[in-house]
Amino acid sequence: MRAFFINRQPYSDSMPRIILHVDMDSFFTAVEMREKPELKGKPVVVGADPKDGRGRGVVSTSSYEARKYGIKSAMPISQAYKLCPTAVFLPVNMPLYAAASEQIMQSLRQRCDRFQQVSIDEAFLDISGRAGDFEEAKQLAASIQKDVLDKEKLSCSIGIGPNKLIAKVASDFKKPAGITVVKPEETKSFLEKLPVIKIRT
Ligand SMILES: [Mg+2]
Repeated sequence: MRAFFINRQPYSDSMPRIILHVDMDSFFTAVEMREKPELKGKPVVVGADPKDGRGRGVVSTSSYEARKYGIKSAMPISQAYKLCPTAVFLPVNMPLYAAASEQIMQSLRQRCDRFQQVSIDEAFLDISGRAGDFEEAKQLAASIQKDVLDKEKLSCSIGIGPNKLIAKVASDFKKPAGITVVKPEETKSFLEKLPVIKIRT
């Protein structure tokens, strides 16, 4: 049996793996709303300049309020404008999001033995050495979620599973601010319930 230590936590291949996938909720618009509280509760769209409906380019992120109008990521900005001309349209401010991301990732890194950032607002955390079972994993996830909210004033959703694929699909299951646990024995029935489109990484 191979065993090694990370952060002085014992980890071995024979342990049941418990993986968290942390995904920030509507990250770009959430950061914008944190910086500009007057945007709270308004439909906010981060992306290309809509130029009164003649703009080119796409929606990068839409707030949950904007999603109620049918505005989605990757949609042409002209279409988003048509759906809700009164939405607040903001340009992509990548340095701002990158700085917020760095803070979040730094604190997430402390909460696990193995860490993998997968995008500006998503990371996998291997907590196999820190949670004895999936019940404890759920408590740990709740504490991570609270931590991010307290420190960064941003909400995230967390998926918990026996591998990265399941954790990733699970984090998307309940949003925003959700925690979804898929135990090893529930994996098959969880995947069977999902449309094929959900299973991609
Ligand atoms: Mg996200």
